[in-house]
Amino acid sequence: MNNRFLPELSNSEWLVEERSWKPAEQALIESVLTLGNGYLGSRAILEELPQGSTPGTYFAGLYDARNTQVTEIVNAPNPVVFRVRADDEQLDLSKMRAVSHYRALDMRQGILARKTVFAGKGGKRFVFESVRFFSLCEKHVAAMRVVVTPLDGPATLEVESHVDDSVTNKGTLTEGDKMHFITKEKCSAGKTNYLSDITFEHGHILAYATQMRVRKGKSETAQTREKFTVRAGRNQTVCFTKYFAVNTTRDCGITSKNIKTKTIGLLKSAVNKGFDRILAEHQDAWRRGWEISDVRLDCAGEPQRALRFNIYHLRILANPDDEQSSVGARALSAEHYKGHIFWDMELFMLPFYIYTDPAAARSFLMYRYNRLEPARKIAADRGYKGAQFPWESADKGVEVTPRHTMDLDGRVVRTIIGEEEHIVCDAGYAVWHYYFATRDRNFMLKYGLEMLLETARFWISRVRYNSRKRYYEINGVMGCDEFHANTNNNAFTNGMARFNILTARECLKEFEKTNPDTVRQLLKKICLTPGAIAKWRRVADIIKKPPKRKDRVIEEFDGFFKLKYIKLPKRQRYYLPGLPKKDVSVKDLCKTQFVKQGDTVILLYLLPDDFDIQTKKANYYFYDARTLHKSSLSPSIYAIMGAELGDLNKAYNYFLACLYTDIHDLYGNTAGGLHAASLGAAWQVAVNGFAGMRVSPDKISFEPRIPDKIRGLRFALKWRGKILRVRVRKDYISFLYEAGANQSTEVCVCGQPVMLKGGDIVSLTKTRGNKWQIKK
Ligand code: BGC
Ligand code: BGC
Repeated sequence: MNNRFLPELSNSEWLVEERSWKPAEQALIESVLTLGNGYLGSRAILEELPQGSTPGTYFAGLYDARNTQVTEIVNAPNPVVFRVRADDEQLDLSKMRAVSHYRALDMRQGILARKTVFAGKGGKRFVFESVRFFSLCEKHVAAMRVVVTPLDGPATLEVESHVDDSVTNKGTLTEGDKMHFITKEKCSAGKTNYLSDITFEHGHILAYATQMRVRKGKSETAQTREKFTVRAGRNQTVCFTKYFAVNTTRDCGITSKNIKTKTIGLLKSAVNKGFDRILAEHQDAWRRGWEISDVRLDCAGEPQRALRFNIYHLRILANPDDEQSSVGARALSAEHYKGHIFWDMELFMLPFYIYTDPAAARSFLMYRYNRLEPARKIAADRGYKGAQFPWESADKGVEVTPRHTMDLDGRVVRTIIGEEEHIVCDAGYAVWHYYFATRDRNFMLKYGLEMLLETARFWISRVRYNSRKRYYEINGVMGCDEFHANTNNNAFTNGMARFNILTARECLKEFEKTNPDTVRQLLKKICLTPGAIAKWRRVADIIKKPPKRKDRVIEEFDGFFKLKYIKLPKRQRYYLPGLPKKDVSVKDLCKTQFVKQGDTVILLYLLPDDFDIQTKKANYYFYDARTLHKSSLSPSIYAIMGAELGDLNKAYNYFLACLYTDIHDLYGNTAGGLHAASLGAAWQVAVNGFAGMRVSPDKISFEPRIPDKIRGLRFALKWRGKILRVRVRKDYISFLYEAGANQSTEVCVCGQPVMLKGGDIVSLTKTRGNKWQIKK
């Protein structure tokens, strides 16, 4: 594209492109090219809304429950509508022939660009170009530009542009489409149009101020009418620039009283700044972000672009300024799972934020902290102490898992609600991990420690002593593997609960030494006595561990080995097996050793020092032969462990399965939203899989394990307030610790401690005897 009104696109490594109009793929592409800035997400609809388009504008954290069984993220008014009728024909891909059509999401700059050449009935051609972005710098501001040029003669352009508040949330299994708001106010104020809507349940107000500027030749005018006409000569370009400012009463400092003035004020300052400057600031924010978050693979083409695609989508979800929202299972890109927040954040996405944008990670943790009270209530209602976070969470932090879901064979089944209690230790682990990597003591003293103590306390009250066997048990849970409900002693849950209790205790001891008064006050506030804590270690030590078997395989839960073993169905693309159709029905998967997704194997990854290499191998191979990967959270975990254990070909294939989940729609449901967990997992496979990064309470370590198809990789980590740049090749790893010359940090490379001094590049190579040596 080469248009003086539009920014230049980056090279193809940074582009996700749509090269022709495929109506059947419209909803998929709209998800894939989603724009956003952490404050909101906007599906990449075409401006004219061709038939079948599904607009989606989602404000993080804005839910409503009118006419729904459980609350859901609101599909807010769509500001992007822009239709042009040229000489009485609608420039619309579903109505008019296109000579060519091209769109690109430019991931480096966070912009969506388009060029379509339409040909009308008489053969008259019109070029329709556009670009839009949601500012990463000023998150309540966005702009779009549409540039129209009639090529074969003068034309009358009838333009229609407004904010569409007739959008609805899509129906689900048991509910039809529903509208969550109603128009509150619509008016023009000078050159600006203003629209506000109010949601039915919570009365949240959503306000949009817009201004349209039309430029023809040298003159530019503002246009407040929603429908207007412009004449354009042959080859004469008309440029329409639409600015928007958005606010909701959920935002800090915004009330029903000031929302209108604030939104209009914001819009005016955006217009005064002008398109080029807003865009430049936005581009600059993107550039700065990529400096730390880009992961460079040393290999050609597609995997690099796909990895960036996953990182791009993670980045458009980060918002350090909002401590009341987190990311739902399908990000802010569509409505599957209703915008609900699962463990997908804590274990799959959060590591990316911890190491590239710790302020955003902190806000996501704060989302949970701010919902400790409802979590305490869930625990108390079940007769337990401490806090139990809900399996599915939304704005209020109560359990919002819907009563029905669709099973793999399309049957509508009742959901099992609240059994995936591992969400509690996942959250505990996330707090520990954040503190481990950031050393953010302030967060811990004010919030993190309380979360750790309350989650640990939940487990202490949850375990039951088996006096015959002399151990504590956790019965009646579902692990990560959702094929098996109501199981006893799920190894993952037991192991993570133990870690939760022990790290809470360790952190408490640490802060008792440094900040005794604060800790005393905290314990008083949550009514936790030193006497109660005194027994934590003993309990944790004897939470049931799987019995040691000769083959070292850990039983996923009590009785798993007695279930029927059926051979894994034939592996298809990227080693993903199909469904075992002939041998067992979906309904009966629970009676078999088939596992939906990584479960025991995740434990080997998260608690690396708890298992020796033989145990890791035995379990990886055992469960890999039983895992159907029917969740997008699964292949990544096997990629990471496969890499550690030297099963590199498989690891690479699973990596691709994770990388391509959305960009190639591997699960066939990306139209319903991007798989947020898988986005984060892609980053983890690169960093934790191929560079072999592991964390354990006393160290951060690296162990390069690079598959043949990749020669190496480069990435940066935020590490305890500084930046650590890492380069990895098969037999080589180097670090640059960006800190003052008098500062140092220690990492571990393949079991060997390595001291890194600020400003120095330290590299290690693998010698013949498989030992790593520092290169002088
Ligand atoms: C997976 C869960 C996941 C949820 C939301 C389910 O299919 O089994 O582990 O949290 O999807 O992504
Ligand atoms: C998921 C569960 C979820 C349920 C209801 C299922 O597809 O696997 O984790 O709770 O849907 O949303």
